[in-house]
Amino acid sequence: MPLPAFPASAKQAVWDAPAITADKTLVSSSYSDSYHQVRLSAVSTPQSSDWLHALPISACSLRLDNETVRVAVGLRLGVDLCTPHDCPSGKMADARGSHGLSCCLAFVRRLAITKSTISSGGLCARPTFHP
Ligand SMILES: [Zn+2]
Repeated sequence: MPLPAFPASAKQAVWDAPAITADKTLVSSSYSDSYHQVRLSAVSTPQSSDWLHALPISACSLRLDNETVRVAVGLRLGVDLCTPHDCPSGKMADARGSHGLSCCLAFVRRLAITKSTISSGGLCARPTFHP
């Protein structure tokens, strides 16, 4: 591999790039499961961590509870989040916990929470003024 020439050689990112690319290839090739390949691709996008920069403002419903953070981090890492079980929707939920992302019953629950949050003044849908 040729060494970077000046002025590019003055930037650490130029030196790091080949090792990062090799590591990404190694990690990506270690997964044969399409679920993990897609997950890895999704968490590798530049904006995939933007939610970590959101200010935890409760008045705007931006504060995540511990369970929400646990699930979000678990989905990013690809770890098992629950035990496999039969969902009331009639489908099987696996240990990855990803069923809830597409389950019709979970959608109804999320919709109810969103409506409740908006009606209570959360999500900054309605301006609220505090003295
Ligand atoms: Zn379900």
